[in-house]
Amino acid sequence: MSKSIPEKSIPELYGSYVFNDKIMRNKLPKDIYKALKKTIENGTHLELDVANSVAVAMKEWAVENGATHFTHWFQPMTGFTAEKHDSFITPMGDGQVIMDFSGKTLIKGEPDASSFPSGGLRATFEARGYTAWDPTSPAFIKDKTLYIPTAFCSYSGEALDKKTPLLRSMDALSREAVRMLHLLGNTSVTGVSTTVGPEQEYFLVERALYEKRKDLIFTGRTLLGALPPKGQEMEDHYFGALKPQVAAFMHDLDEELWKLGIPAKTKHNEVAPSQHELAPVFDTTNVAVDHNMLTMEIMKKVAKKHGMVCLLHEKPFAGINGSGKHNNWSMITNEGDNLLEPGKTPYANLQFLVFLMAVIKAVDDYADLMRMSVASAGNDHRLGANEAPPAIISIFLGEELNAIVESIENDTFFEKHGKVQMETGAIVLPHFFKDNTDRNRTSPFAFTGNKFEFRSLGSSLNVAGPNVILNTAVAESLRSFYEELKDSAPEELDEKVHALLKKTIQDHKKVIFNGDGYTDEWIEEAERRGLENLKATPDALPSFIRPKNIELFTKHGIFTRSEIDSRYEIFLENYAKIIHIEAKTLESMVAHEFLPALEKYSLSLAKALKAKKDLLGDKPYAEKAQLEKAAADYDTIYDKLLGLGADIEKTEGITDSLELAKACHDVLLFDMEDLRTVADAAETYIPKDMLPYPTYDELLFS
Ligand code: ADP
Ligand code: MG
Repeated sequence: MSKSIPEKSIPELYGSYVFNDKIMRNKLPKDIYKALKKTIENGTHLELDVANSVAVAMKEWAVENGATHFTHWFQPMTGFTAEKHDSFITPMGDGQVIMDFSGKTLIKGEPDASSFPSGGLRATFEARGYTAWDPTSPAFIKDKTLYIPTAFCSYSGEALDKKTPLLRSMDALSREAVRMLHLLGNTSVTGVSTTVGPEQEYFLVERALYEKRKDLIFTGRTLLGALPPKGQEMEDHYFGALKPQVAAFMHDLDEELWKLGIPAKTKHNEVAPSQHELAPVFDTTNVAVDHNMLTMEIMKKVAKKHGMVCLLHEKPFAGINGSGKHNNWSMITNEGDNLLEPGKTPYANLQFLVFLMAVIKAVDDYADLMRMSVASAGNDHRLGANEAPPAIISIFLGEELNAIVESIENDTFFEKHGKVQMETGAIVLPHFFKDNTDRNRTSPFAFTGNKFEFRSLGSSLNVAGPNVILNTAVAESLRSFYEELKDSAPEELDEKVHALLKKTIQDHKKVIFNGDGYTDEWIEEAERRGLENLKATPDALPSFIRPKNIELFTKHGIFTRSEIDSRYEIFLENYAKIIHIEAKTLESMVAHEFLPALEKYSLSLAKALKAKKDLLGDKPYAEKAQLEKAAADYDTIYDKLLGLGADIEKTEGITDSLELAKACHDVLLFDMEDLRTVADAAETYIPKDMLPYPTYDELLFS
């Protein structure tokens, strides 16, 4: 066990490595602090003198806390974070140095970014990339370095990262939500943020075992491996007691996260053996995204310290539940009101219903984009596989909220617990109680009391993507509602809102589904309803460039046309690259490790058989049958290996990105699965000491 810290020092520890509000207030001159706060809260432009002053305070604080370097930290299209460290040291020309850091260096960086994916964007404009300080996400110290969260863009301002569009989408949502709130009479609100609490699943495996598996090292998942006799059937791992090594890891992890002001809150074992989950307290989306990226990185680092490896892949083990990430999402005003909180008063309820309906419309209109936003090679193994929601996007409202929505649609009074509420109109509703009993786990997008939970995300995903879509789609619903209502006279507004809600639910109720999303009946029913079922990544990605979606992005200033095209290209390329690496890794493991092991076993059988024959005479020895089986398997595996190799070569000749992605899915993944089936069957009879890598048994139950 690692040394434990006394309970009362946790508040002291918490956020101790973050340049947070308290430190800013202490360190900055009053007017500078005020100006910075204004920028953070209202998105106003930051003047250079303010930046200079902030830079000095930041550097002072960082140096006091042991930092020698600073880095502009950003989220390029690789899906990982990137950083380039510079030291604060500035030579004075007399052999002396000072620790220096200016406003200019705080605001803008120029990393050598030529090898980050740009989908052709940068080539057409400028070779360099720029990082720009994002003051809405606090700077922090890690590994003696001051980390400055930044956006990453090209010389002419095209986004090359995941943060820039996220910030743009938060602006769009705020703009539209504020307009709508003002229209509804809630005029004191000046800003609306979206909030996110991502629940993160992961696996822990022994490092020594991991290092013997090329597939885990190169691809993050096992490409071979027979299921152990005991998998997760007994469900004894879910919320089970933590093993000491895991408990020590979690303890350390919490401490590391708390230091960085990441409010890690819950931890427990998940369904699969060796699988766990961490949930933070929710935060503003931008900060939550940065925190989740950091959380994933720190999980890996802390696991290493404890002799383990943290696997964030969506499906490390075939046949065992994979890992996802639940994106809990809501909207909050600058006055602290959650817009998805049903509330107690009819006034609040009306507002709640408008925002609820905006979400329902958004999900129905842009289900294809939501699906696309969670598409990845890893997540393809989960969606629709009875462990995660189906690839069909639908909404779960729960019994009570569903009844409310139906009463709006049909102009009937809402009935609660058998009592009819006699109010002045159907939209004037009694206090709605959180529906805690209804915990539908099979829905991709579920209302959970005062927020929506988007459950289709894969565990390794940067959650920025899905939140860009949610924010933008809801902004668009609110925009269209506003257009519809803006010319109403005050006395007719209620009636107009009611009519709008009614029409919206009629148009979009097809996306609401409260049943079991894992069944075949739902797949058929969804098809009848006209809901799309975009099964794999190559099916889902093209929705990104559908005309209606290009219009959505450009209208709200989220992506320019060239940003859309470049991103689409990057998504396709990433997918093809991942499948290629997997195919080549499997090819190499089978050729260099598996077949030689099978050969070795065959030789030992042959030797035993010969010895028995020599000593005991010719009889139908079991070794003979076994040798025949192993020989036949060797031939089959060898043939399939050649087939895979030939197909890898063929796909390498495809130049069109979509066609390539499709070939990777239809041909390479099929070949790999086909090869694996035979190899896994053979694995079960090869003696353990002859197997070149640790088995599922060892990986999952050690
Ligand atoms: P579950 O039952 O799905 O495991 P938990 O209650 O453990 O849910 O976690 C829910 C997550 O939702 C937490 O990260 C929590 O902070 C987050 N959450 C709660 N309220 C909101 C909100 N208004 N906006 C965004 N996230 C929220
Ligand atoms: Mg959840």
